[in-house]
Amino acid sequence: MEKWQLSLRNAINSVDGLTERFQLPLEKLRCVAETFRFRVTPYYLSLIREKGDGIYRQCIPDEQELNGSPELMDDPLSEEQFSPVPNIVHRYPDRCLFLVSNQCAMYCRFCTRKRKFHTPMCVDRMHIDQGIEYIRSHGEIRDVLVSGGDPFLLDDDRIEYILKNLRAIRHVEILRIGTRTPCVLPERITVKLTAMLKKYHPLYINVHFNHPDELTEQSVKALGRLADAGIPLGSQTVLLKNVNDNPATMKLLMQKLLAARVKPYYIFQTDLVFGTEHFRTSLDCGLKIIDQLRGWTSGLAVPQYVIDLPHGGGKVPLLPEYLREKKGNILLFRNFNNECFEYPDLDSK
Ligand SMILES: *Cc1c(COP(=O)(O)O)cnc(C)c1O
Ligand code: SF4
Repeated sequence: MEKWQLSLRNAINSVDGLTERFQLPLEKLRCVAETFRFRVTPYYLSLIREKGDGIYRQCIPDEQELNGSPELMDDPLSEEQFSPVPNIVHRYPDRCLFLVSNQCAMYCRFCTRKRKFHTPMCVDRMHIDQGIEYIRSHGEIRDVLVSGGDPFLLDDDRIEYILKNLRAIRHVEILRIGTRTPCVLPERITVKLTAMLKKYHPLYINVHFNHPDELTEQSVKALGRLADAGIPLGSQTVLLKNVNDNPATMKLLMQKLLAARVKPYYIFQTDLVFGTEHFRTSLDCGLKIIDQLRGWTSGLAVPQYVIDLPHGGGKVPLLPEYLREKKGNILLFRNFNNECFEYPDLDSK
């Protein structure tokens, strides 16, 4: 057994020990943990500085998870509807999601796929082969996003089986993997794993970080190892109330990611998932954050802020308004610092 597998075996999956440490109502938390799967790695738990901080809120069950409002859905992105075969979500013309794992090292309390974890999807060999076959028979797919759950909870051989088969498909130009392990189980990024991954370039990895305290020495080392294998790294961040819903926290997070060789890619507006309402923020909150990033720090550190629209509408970008006024073909813009400048446009033909 590898070290990361041992860490996973030692992960905490019962709330009993927590209720004492954080003085929480045991019965209520048991009820939440029965409804939505609970697990946290000892490593991630060790990052909590105090009850209720940004790390705590992401991993410790909260009784508010049971107060779902009716507009919140089990499957907000209608992924089931865009799923031609069980483990594929094919919503865009030239790329698809391939869900290869139904496990995560830690179950984030705000997860969009919460529903998947109480009736886990099947990820046995037959289902994986079926997904590969779908991609092989759809010549328009040039980009495959391997996701889950977390693909890096599979052992190296199973990951390699998937990558090797996808790489053998002529029309698949790029492979992407989405994983949260550098953040919640950094020991998963072994030398053996990266040596295997680098055989399947062009391969991109998208990691998931939500709080500056998650960029520890261990996670930065794991990210460096991936980058040293020539893998371009991007990140996604979910905008979460009382975790990262302010410009200062987000700026620090984005700067730390960039310094760890990760290009911030998306900030997601929280999806409308049942049981995550206490994490929701207004769109205005996200727009203010972008406004305080653009111009105020490296452009490389500024991700796109997107909503994944309900009912399978897909991702749309949101930007603060920089255009102040239009006088004929003279446009009046404000810059990041709220100074105004004119720009003469050409007539559109
Ligand atoms: C997010 C997503 C993708 C990838 O989108 P990009 O904007 O290319 O990163 C592909 N398929 C589905 C279903 C998605 O939700
Ligand atoms: S790592 Fe991703 S898929 Fe897994 S629980 Fe967290 S948000 Fe959900």
